[in-house]
Amino acid sequence: MRTAQRTHTFTESVIREMTRVANRHGAINLAQGFPDFPAPDLLKEAAVEAIRADLNQYAITWGAPRLRRALAEKYRRFYGMEVDTEREIVVTCGATEAMASAMLALVDPGDEIVVYEPFYENYGPDSILCGAKPVFVPTREDGGPDLDATAAAFSDRTRGIIINTPNNPTGHVFAGDELEVIARLCIEHDAVAFTDEIYEHILYEGEHVPIATVEGMRERTVTVSGASKTFSVTGWRIGTIVAPPELTDAIKKTHDFLTVGAPAPLQEACAAGIEQLDQSYYKQLADDYRRRRDVMYDGLVAAGFACRPPAGSYYILADFSKLSDLPDDEFAVWLAREYGVASVPGSSFYSDAEDGRTQVRFAFCKTLQTLEQAAGRLRHLG
Ligand code: GLN
Repeated sequence: MRTAQRTHTFTESVIREMTRVANRHGAINLAQGFPDFPAPDLLKEAAVEAIRADLNQYAITWGAPRLRRALAEKYRRFYGMEVDTEREIVVTCGATEAMASAMLALVDPGDEIVVYEPFYENYGPDSILCGAKPVFVPTREDGGPDLDATAAAFSDRTRGIIINTPNNPTGHVFAGDELEVIARLCIEHDAVAFTDEIYEHILYEGEHVPIATVEGMRERTVTVSGASKTFSVTGWRIGTIVAPPELTDAIKKTHDFLTVGAPAPLQEACAAGIEQLDQSYYKQLADDYRRRRDVMYDGLVAAGFACRPPAGSYYILADFSKLSDLPDDEFAVWLAREYGVASVPGSSFYSDAEDGRTQVRFAFCKTLQTLEQAAGRLRHLG
């Protein structure tokens, strides 16, 4: 049978494939980024309670009112943003659907989308699903954006730019002055910023700045986030969009026809989490992740990888050229099979596979025990 041309232009998800490789070899899965520790009791109890109370039918397609109210309050509390609960929020099935729905709603065939690389693997396919052309821009050695190359990538065909801060896979946290340069380019070219801020609370250095708070950007920014990382519930698939009404009017339609809505009882539970978990929860989350980062980073350096400690998110992109001459995809499978630690091949984060040939990505959203065990296995490498 024939399949659509556009699906030929991207491969399957390498991240998900590496989870299957990890399972096949009984390896510790540091490939796909999902926690192996429990979600907060408060959220779990609230979910059970919502199901028992029979909140089991469709929520309003763009989000349960209680969650939208909680989100507006969150954006006011953390970032001083005023958000209209009726017109400026769309709750989706994960940040993945949020990015896809927003782009399908706002990007036309033939448009160009600026994408930093290394990138999280969904952004290229999202652009292609819209019939748009991703224009890839390199990042600096330290993971920050190359701003001259960013300026050169914008043209009259540019419809938008994808920003992911804190970044997967580099761990870069975009600084205010970097965002200001990007903002000026967006304004000059009448482009939209699609910003994936799913790791907003997993931060070790610097401050999380939503580009929507940069002057002139609120009206042209789609701010995406969700519960997966903040509340350790990646399987719940609760994503969120904050954008001006002119943009959400279109996004609500693509979202509605794609998924109808996100799981109703889980939206209630996420609302409870936002309402009731206070500053100490967010501090603990970042502190716990900092300890995990340090164990992972020290373990990788001790094993002979070359890498930098990330400023945010929960990944380390590591160069293995001192350890092996294998290409990244073979190295990742070999490491899972022979040493019992699964990672993601670096090439899946670049438009030109050659750029990632000596790199693999490790996710450290795991218990200290899991990470110490992984570090112990990797120590035998060198
Ligand atoms: N964002 C996570 C990662 O990069 C999870 C990806 C996924 O499978 N949704 O590993």
